[in-house]
Amino acid sequence: KKITSVLLILLLATSAMFAAGSTEAASSSVAKIGVSMPTQSLQRWNQDGANMKAQLEKAGYKVDLQYAGDNDIPTQVAQIENMITSNCKVLVIAAIDGSALTEVLKTAKQKGIAVIAYDRLIMNSDAVSYYATFDNYKVGTIQGTFIRDALKLDTAKGPFNIELFTGSPDDNNVNFFFGGAMSILEPYIKSGKLVVRSGQTTKAQCATPNWSTEESQKRMENLITANGYGPKGNRLDAVLSSNDSVANGITNALVAAGYTKDNFPILTGQDCDKPAVKNMLQGLQSMSIFKDTRTLASKVVDMVNAIVKGSTVEINDNKTYDNGTGIIPSYLCDPVFATLDNYKALLIDSGYYKEADLAIN
Ligand code: BGC
Repeated sequence: KKITSVLLILLLATSAMFAAGSTEAASSSVAKIGVSMPTQSLQRWNQDGANMKAQLEKAGYKVDLQYAGDNDIPTQVAQIENMITSNCKVLVIAAIDGSALTEVLKTAKQKGIAVIAYDRLIMNSDAVSYYATFDNYKVGTIQGTFIRDALKLDTAKGPFNIELFTGSPDDNNVNFFFGGAMSILEPYIKSGKLVVRSGQTTKAQCATPNWSTEESQKRMENLITANGYGPKGNRLDAVLSSNDSVANGITNALVAAGYTKDNFPILTGQDCDKPAVKNMLQGLQSMSIFKDTRTLASKVVDMVNAIVKGSTVEINDNKTYDNGTGIIPSYLCDPVFATLDNYKALLIDSGYYKEADLAIN
């Protein structure tokens, strides 16, 4: 009897040791998260990457953060491939071309790696588990509404001249940005209160490949020449631009054509990039949508935590974003907009920028 109880104690002790050993092993194998960003040449993505890395590391993860050169699709695919091979537990991806990742993500799915589409939806892939972004349609409606109110389209006699710019055709967000803005502006174009002298009103005609400042500048220069716009020529009352990198090119072209802060057309933007905010401070852009990248990063970290722990992932939209394989459960953060009136509270008091970041030299 004595021998059996000694054996029992021994058995209990060894199994306790095993249990302790295995939990130790689990806690020492920290999960690695892959974060794939499209480019380092635009300020917002640097901020997104830095915020994601800092917040994930704070939550105890290892982070493999990669930027795909300057929007280079094969580089992004190769970087994601590496993340999969090195056994990242979750991939967080802001795609350059939303439709170019179908193949590489097949392997992620096979290996049971969860994929979160970051800011831009990844199309045609059933490997995408969740989508975290800002409400992209609302971004567009805020921009359209801003133009409507600035020109007082409901009361002023008009007509007013406008030209329209959106972003990269391979970015699914463009459908929402442009669609949202046009949902507000189109009725005024139909009624003749708003006139697009160039006649360019479709998404394809208004696209800017790669969201490139050079491309939007070139197109604005052509529109100015072809339609006789200028401070001394035909009036240009407003330009819709889906984001700041595109707005910067438009501003360059307008300034070169002689426009100043005293006669500058209403011009929209998005991201509150430093050059755009500086333009705003100088009267060379009217507004910019503010999407606090810290908020988006913290939502994504919550998602990663829930996925790793196997608990419920918080979403607030399960109807809007179909990536071609079905609806992707999404979390949509709320966008707001900055103007001269509120930029201090929004951008400086919140700690997003320092006053010196926006100094004009
Ligand atoms: C993002 C914008 C950004 C643009 C260009 C879009 O997908 O939502 O915030 O300005 O890409 O990088």
